[in-house]
Amino acid sequence: MLELRSMKTYYGNIQAIKGIDILVERGEIITLIGANGAGKSTTLMSICGVVPPREGEIIFEGESLVDMDPDRIVAMGISQVPEGRRIFPHLTVKENLDMGALLRRDKDGVRRDIDYVYSLFPILAERKGQAGGTLSGGEQQMLAISRAIMARPKLLLLDEPSLGLAPLIVQQIFEIIRQINEENGTTIFLVEQNANQALKVADRGYVMETGRISLTDTASNLLANEEVKKAYLGV
Ligand code: ATP
Repeated sequence: MLELRSMKTYYGNIQAIKGIDILVERGEIITLIGANGAGKSTTLMSICGVVPPREGEIIFEGESLVDMDPDRIVAMGISQVPEGRRIFPHLTVKENLDMGALLRRDKDGVRRDIDYVYSLFPILAERKGQAGGTLSGGEQQMLAISRAIMARPKLLLLDEPSLGLAPLIVQQIFEIIRQINEENGTTIFLVEQNANQALKVADRGYVMETGRISLTDTASNLLANEEVKKAYLGV
């Protein structure tokens, strides 16, 4: 579904991504793990067209995304949940969800999907008239994920959904990520520092170190890998 080939991304003269290859198959959950500053967020931002790569290729369903407008990339079926959730704080929960469906014309489908996200996160239904900014961190993350789903993406990019959340909420969020994948067949690209949780939910994983992919394998093999255990799982 998505292929990054020898992708290199820069901020001015700083090379953040030093030539990476990543393959995402339709229907799978893949995770990109690594330490702070490894280049995980930059990888997602390159895919979304926010920080386009200087070299290499990004192919989505046979089409190159390099130098494509971010809006067109969304229209092709790729939605991102950015790090730090960035919902619209002054809009209500329901208005935030409507923003996610802005490109859609199927009104009935949108209504059904609003009901669907309320079934995933009943707390959002309870708070639908409340301003997004008044929600707790966990609820804002739920809203950010829901807003992205409202675009009915084929590929959902999630940047550190567990960041700053209590363990119980993190578990709930990861459960829902799995559910979204299973119920809708949505392909998921999950960037995480919480390697343990991410590898438990993913099919396959990539380990990133200073702008390079140092290791890739099935999630279960990575969980059992001694190097990964030492560096990322704290065991
Ligand atoms: P984190 O978990 O902290 O988000 P990350 O793995 O997502 O880390 P990136 O945010 O992609 O890492 O950063 C990769 C590298 O690019 C780092 O060295 C970082 O300092 C640098 N970088 C990120 N954003 C910018 C920017 N806007 N300008 C210059 N350098 C940047």
